[in-house]
Amino acid sequence: MAQDRSKLRWNGWGFAAHKDDIAGREEVWRRLAAELGMPALLATPPRPLDELKLPAARLSSADRAMLAAIVGADQLRNGDFERAFHAQGRSYLDLLRLRSGDLSSAPDAVVYPRSTEEVLAVLALAATRHIAVMPFGGGSGAVGWANAMRSDYEAALALDLSEMDRVIEIDPVAATATVEAGIAGPALENALKAKGHTLGHFPQSFEFSTLGGWIAQSGAGQASPRYGRAGDWLLSVKLATPVGLLETGHLPAGPQLKDIVCGSEGVLGVVTEAVIRLRPQPFFSEVHGFLCRDLHTGLEIMRLSMQSDCPPALLQLADSEALRFCRGFDMAPTLLQKLGNTLRRWRGYGEASCLLLAGFEGDTQTAVAARRRFAVLAGRHGALALGRGPGEDWRRTRFRLPYRRDTLLDRGVGVEIVETSAGWSRLEAIPAAVRQAVASAAEETLPREGARALVLCQAAHADVNGASLTFTIVFPRRLEGDIAQAQKIKAAATGAILAAGGTLSHHHGIGRDHLAWMERETGKTGLDVLGAIKKNLDPEGIMNPGKLLP
Ligand SMILES: Cc1cc2nc3c(=O)[nH]c(=O)nc-3n(C[C@H](O)[C@H](O)[C@H](O)COP(=O)(O)OP(=O)(O)OC[C@H]3O[C@@H](n4cnc5c(N)ncnc54)[C@H](O)[C@@H]3O)c2cc1C
Repeated sequence: MAQDRSKLRWNGWGFAAHKDDIAGREEVWRRLAAELGMPALLATPPRPLDELKLPAARLSSADRAMLAAIVGADQLRNGDFERAFHAQGRSYLDLLRLRSGDLSSAPDAVVYPRSTEEVLAVLALAATRHIAVMPFGGGSGAVGWANAMRSDYEAALALDLSEMDRVIEIDPVAATATVEAGIAGPALENALKAKGHTLGHFPQSFEFSTLGGWIAQSGAGQASPRYGRAGDWLLSVKLATPVGLLETGHLPAGPQLKDIVCGSEGVLGVVTEAVIRLRPQPFFSEVHGFLCRDLHTGLEIMRLSMQSDCPPALLQLADSEALRFCRGFDMAPTLLQKLGNTLRRWRGYGEASCLLLAGFEGDTQTAVAARRRFAVLAGRHGALALGRGPGEDWRRTRFRLPYRRDTLLDRGVGVEIVETSAGWSRLEAIPAAVRQAVASAAEETLPREGARALVLCQAAHADVNGASLTFTIVFPRRLEGDIAQAQKIKAAATGAILAAGGTLSHHHGIGRDHLAWMERETGKTGLDVLGAIKKNLDPEGIMNPGKLLP
C-alpha cells in the first residue's frame, strides 16, 4: 500500500503532524541564539500553500488525453498539493525555495504509472512531444531538484513511482528479491522481515525514500560497513528509457551495465524494477557507545577495526562540536549525568572528546566476537566504554533528526549539509579545512557582526579504504538573500573538501547543487563518456534536465 502523501509536508520533512519537542522551549532558543552570536531567534514560518499561486499548468489537452490513455485518467493529477509536493527535493536550497513560496519548478502534472510498460509508453510520448520527465521516488533527494526551464520544454511531468511498490518474488535459496522500484523503505523491510530476510539499507531518510531512489542516487545506509551501499546489493535492474528498456542481466564478466544505472540520478531513464541481494534477519543487534579522547583517536579506531578480520556492522563518530551541540538541546541533565560528565573530564575526556557508536549484528556468536574484539581495540586506544545507552538513544532518534532542520528553519536558523569521503590517510585533515573555509565565508554572509556558524562533523560509512564525513553547518539565516548565503557557505565548504583531497559527495550525489564541480571531479573525458551514454538513451534530453550533467 503506497504512502498517503496527503499526510506529509509538501515543504519540509515527513509527517505534517510530527511535533518537535524543542519547538516551544524558549530556554533552548535563548541558548542557541547566544551560541550563534544573535540577540534572539525570532519566528520565521514558511508560507502556507493556500497563500501561493502556482504557475499555470502547461500540459495541452491533447497531451493530457494521450497520457490518460496510457495510465488512466485517475493516474494523472494536477492539484495544487500534488504539484507543490513534487516541486523540489529536500536539500537545504530546495527547502528555502519551497518555504519562501517559490513554486516555479512545480511540474505541470504528476503521473502515477503502474507498470514498466506504462513507464516506457509515457517516456516515448514525452520524447516525441518534448516534455521533460522527472522521476520521483520519495522526494528525499538532498542535492537539488531537476530544473525543467519553463521555456525549454513544452511541459514538465513528475513521474511518481509510488504505486509501483510490489515485491514480485523472494527467492529464499538464492537469497534475492525482485522488487518494483517505488517501494518505500518500511514497506520493503516489513515484507522481507516476514520471510526472515533484510536488505539492511537504512539511510536516515529510510521512512520517506524508495528503492529506486536509493539505486538512482547510489545511496548508503547507516549500517553500510556490513550491508554495503546500493551498488553492492544491486544485482540487476530494469531501466525504462525514452528509447526502450535496458535490462542489465546478471553477467558477472565484462563492464557492468548496472553500474551505469546506479548513481545515474534519473537522467538516463526510470528504474522500474530491481533484483537485490538479501541477508538473513540478524539474531543479534547491539550498538555500543565509546568516548574517544579526540577525533584522531576515534578515526584511528574506526580504521583499524574496518581493516581487521572482524569489522563492526556500523560505525558513527560524532566530533566534539557535534556532541556539544546535541547536548545543548538537553537543557536539564540529571544529577547523575552531571556527575558522569565531571568524572569523565577528570579522567582526561575533555572538550575534544568524541562519541563513537559501534554496532554489531548477525548471528550471535560472530557478532559477540566482533563486539569483544572491538572493545579490546577501543580500550587499547584509550576509549571509554559507555555501554548500550548511547546506542539505544541513537536507535530511538535515528529517523527523527531530519525533522529538527525544519524546526530550526522556523526560528531563522539555517542548516546546510555537506558530505564527502576520503581515504584514511587524507580524512583527518578535512574537518579543519572545512571549518576554516566556512568561518571565512560566514563572516561575509551572516546577518550581523559577531554572529557565528557552527560546523558539526560526523564520520561514518567506513570500509577498508576510508570513510565518509558529513558536515552539518548551523548558522543564523540572512533573511534577505538566504539562497545566496547558503550557496556561498556550500561553495566554501565544497572547495575546501576538494582541495583537501575529499570527493564531491559520498552518498547524496551530484544533482543540481554540485553540478559546478562535476567536471573537476570526473575530468572532461569522463563527462564526455557520461554525455555519450545520455545521448544514446535519452536523445531528446527530456530526463531530469539540469541534474548530474552540466
Ligand atoms: C534528512 C536526509 C537524510 C538523508 N540520509 C541519507 C542517508 O543516510 N543515506 C543516503 O544514501 N542518502 C540520504 N539522503 C539522501 C536521499 O534520501 C537519498 O538520495 C535517497 O536515496 C533518495 O531516494 P528517494 O526515493 O527519496 O528519491 P527522490 O528524492 O525521489 O529522487 C532522488 C533522485 O533520484 C531520481 N529517482 C528517484 N526514483 C527514481 C527511479 N525509480 N528511477 C530513476 N530515477 C529515480 C530522481 O529523479 C532524483 O533525481 C538523505 C536526505 C535527507 C534529506
